[in-house]
Amino acid sequence: MSNCISKVIVALDYSDAESALVFVDKLEPSLCRLKVGKELFTREGPPIVSDLIRRGFDVFLDLKFHDIPNTVVRAIAAVADMGVWMTNVHTLGGRRMMEAAREEIDRKGSKIILLGVTILTSIEQSDLCEFGMQKSLMAQVRNLSAAAEMSGLHGVVCSAMEGPLLRNERKDSFVLVTPGIRLSNSPKDDQRRVVTPIDAIKSGSDFIVIGRPVTQSATPAATLREIVQSIA
Ligand code: C5P
Repeated sequence: MSNCISKVIVALDYSDAESALVFVDKLEPSLCRLKVGKELFTREGPPIVSDLIRRGFDVFLDLKFHDIPNTVVRAIAAVADMGVWMTNVHTLGGRRMMEAAREEIDRKGSKIILLGVTILTSIEQSDLCEFGMQKSLMAQVRNLSAAAEMSGLHGVVCSAMEGPLLRNERKDSFVLVTPGIRLSNSPKDDQRRVVTPIDAIKSGSDFIVIGRPVTQSATPAATLREIVQSIA
């Protein structure tokens, strides 16, 4: 693990290692951590993760595992072996799956931070109703977060809009990681529940995940520095 203390995780949503690394070369490991998600990992696999770790970055491998316990346990074991800093499963995979994932990282003596995804920040109340989920979105996130904590996960991925409630109800060490971050002048893209960096931190986020506002900036290093300074 690096000595990075930044609360900013930049989402490396690129389609190939070369473009991702051209971008990463503009960043410093002291300013941010990096998130590798489904697109880059599916195309490039473990070597891109090792490359980023070798360059001194903490890596959040965001694959949101959602499967039966045995399958998730085996996947988590493989992720822990890669030496990544943080990873996640989907809370809707259920209590037994989350507990088994946590047991596996303990069995391996891994220090990886294991999170549960609650409700994606691209989902809004009307989407839940369409699935027949009548409870409020906030209530769903609350239940899923409680289940994650009881199952031994270290924290959750949620919207910063749910931060104040969860910070109040979950133990202090429970990690809140919040995507759906937008600068006041950046487009929402496909996100729905969006919050600015400073408001996310004030709402109790431990780490903010930010992708397009940085990766698509004409001056990514300057934009990142501005975000880091805005929450310092
Ligand atoms: O570009 P943008 O800032 O919207 O990127 C957000 C990143 O966070 C994406 O990589 C997306 O997959 C991820 N993410 C999210 N909502 C979640 C979990 C992860 O947007 N609940």
